[in-house]
Amino acid sequence: MSINLLDFDAKGLTGFCAEIGEKPFRARQLLRWIHRAGEADFDAMSDLAKGLREKLSAAAVIEPPKVISDHTAPDGTRKWLLSVGAGNGIETVYIPEKSRGTLCISSQVGCALACAFCSTGRQGFNRNLTVAEIIGQLWWANKALTETFTSEAGRERPITNIVMMGMGEPLTNFENVVMSLDLMLDDNAYGLSRRRVTVSTSGIIPAMDRLRERCPVALAVSLHAPNDALRDQLVPINRKYPIRELLAACERYLQSAPRDFITFEYVMLDGVNDSVAQARELVQLVRDIPCKLNLIPFNPFPDSGFRRSSANAVSRFRDVLMEAGLVTTVRKTRGDDIAAACGQLAGKVLDKTRRVHRSIAEAAG
Ligand code: SAH
Ligand code: SF4
Repeated sequence: MSINLLDFDAKGLTGFCAEIGEKPFRARQLLRWIHRAGEADFDAMSDLAKGLREKLSAAAVIEPPKVISDHTAPDGTRKWLLSVGAGNGIETVYIPEKSRGTLCISSQVGCALACAFCSTGRQGFNRNLTVAEIIGQLWWANKALTETFTSEAGRERPITNIVMMGMGEPLTNFENVVMSLDLMLDDNAYGLSRRRVTVSTSGIIPAMDRLRERCPVALAVSLHAPNDALRDQLVPINRKYPIRELLAACERYLQSAPRDFITFEYVMLDGVNDSVAQARELVQLVRDIPCKLNLIPFNPFPDSGFRRSSANAVSRFRDVLMEAGLVTTVRKTRGDDIAAACGQLAGKVLDKTRRVHRSIAEAAG
């Protein structure tokens, strides 16, 4: 099997070049061709000598996951379904807005953490995505959007923000996620700002500390409950990494974070975590941490056992937080009308997809 160059960050590509007897600057050239130009064909890399192109073709491929479908909703939200083999599909969603364009990326097929209200969690864990599969989502989206993008929106690039909020827990696929983040930030690749790349985690404390050291980007933490008793039920990993320890990890993270706040995500579940008393408890919990609160109306899926909080409950909850001085946003729904078009191939992924559409822009900040 050939080596897939999409699996390499700058360091890996430099190592690969050394192995085939090429200088480090070739790695930079390759990075630019692959990621900036979206080129998958060595023959088209015009500033590489023919001999080198032949050597590359013999040793390696540039192989992103295959696109199975590509849909754009009337509001401009665009969604790709990518095949990652064995009948598994992952989805990538692009949300264009006036001042930014946000891409939501998956990190795993399924998820092992089994949060009660999450359809991915219900599916169980299948496997980690490779770097090629994670960065391949950005590779495709960037290529497709660049072809059609006009900078009417007053920005130069179609994708300005990334959120790791698709399927999976990014911090339990640590090495591949960090290598992918490195590529997102690399000036020879996608050159995104650290402040505009957000990892969302259910609170894997040791990995939060490692991320802070290895590749500090913006952080969103899925809190969902104001106390351990309830969080133990909703987010089972809380039994291992309880709230106090999680908040201490957030404070440590803030010492080297590119942004001076953490985003707390809070899914709004009718009659479960959406009372005024719980909002007050939440205020007490997070009031000393620089943070923003992002309330996510629950997206139902079959047999979930939960209902979405009413609009009234959401606004009451939000008002309590805002009156206490916490910056709070409620996520909007976008791109819903294309979810159904994905067909059977999306299979189990579809539930997640609809959720993803609701879950993006605010967290991107
Ligand atoms: N595993 C990571 C990132 C992926 S989930 C995490 O848990 O943070 C991204 C966000 O969507 C998380 O805040 C998650 O709790 C939320 N979410 C999961 N299922 C949901 C649902 N059915 N409705 C609304 N939000 C959901
Ligand atoms: Fe996994 Fe996040 Fe879903 Fe929990 S909410 S099961 S951590 S993807």
